[in-house]
Amino acid sequence: MTHVIAIANQKGGVGKTTTAINLAAALVTMERQVLLLDLDPQGNASSGSNADREDGAFTLYEWLKGSDSLETVKQHCLPGFDLVPSDESLTALEMELLGAEDRTRRLVSRLKPVEADYDFVLIDCPPALNVLTVNALNAATGVLVPMQCEYFALEGLSALVSTVEGIRATTNPRLRIEGILRTMYDPRLGLTQAVSRQLFQYFPNNVYRTVIPRNVRLAEAPSHSMPAILYEPSSKGSRAYVALANEMLRRYETTRTD
Ligand code: ATP
Ligand code: MG
Repeated sequence: MTHVIAIANQKGGVGKTTTAINLAAALVTMERQVLLLDLDPQGNASSGSNADREDGAFTLYEWLKGSDSLETVKQHCLPGFDLVPSDESLTALEMELLGAEDRTRRLVSRLKPVEADYDFVLIDCPPALNVLTVNALNAATGVLVPMQCEYFALEGLSALVSTVEGIRATTNPRLRIEGILRTMYDPRLGLTQAVSRQLFQYFPNNVYRTVIPRNVRLAEAPSHSMPAILYEPSSKGSRAYVALANEMLRRYETTRTD
């Protein structure tokens, strides 16, 4: 079974893209086949991955519009790691989708015929609960929610969880919360500890034990257009994403239904 994971949180700057790129790279080192979809017009996952991108290359926009195939739009990052890049043209798709009958299911129909070629499809969502994110949630088997342990983060989380529950109850029964990931984690802060405790209280089965520490290598790597896992594999940040990938794979082993 292919795991299609939407990496989502409507709050900006919480580490969605950093997680998408580095989790993809970590899973690839574990010999999984990974497709990373950049579903954000900011295009951060595209510029932060080591894709052999040429100017004017096709993007996710053309694929979702239906004018080009996945073969044409995907870019090769590493053996076993493909990326469908995006840029600001994706904003136009948002507008075009609003008038379309399949506005929330376009990604489902584009992904279905090709997803079995991969073990994991990771979707880097924009910082909004908009039509693009709803497309991701309809196509996904799970939602991975990166969050910083700050007070307002919990409020945003309940809005996201109710959106996920709404989608599971209506259009996508296979959707579940894949996990909540604490990012930019600093255990010295009292607030971090307090928010962590609350997370475990409300979502006892959904919080990853692995935390991603604040680590400068994770922030530097995108300026070299590569995952931190390639840029500095021994850094704390890289090791944390490898640990996260291991924790995810272990969880699949213990909750296997297929
Ligand atoms: P947006 O909502 O704009 O898409 P995002 O949720 O995708 O943002 P990122 O772009 O991954 O968040 O991260 C925001 C900023 O924080 C970036 O500059 C990134 O390099 C940095 N960053 C992310 N995670 C870490 C970390 N663990 N340690 C240090 N810096 C980090
Ligand atoms: Mg992002």
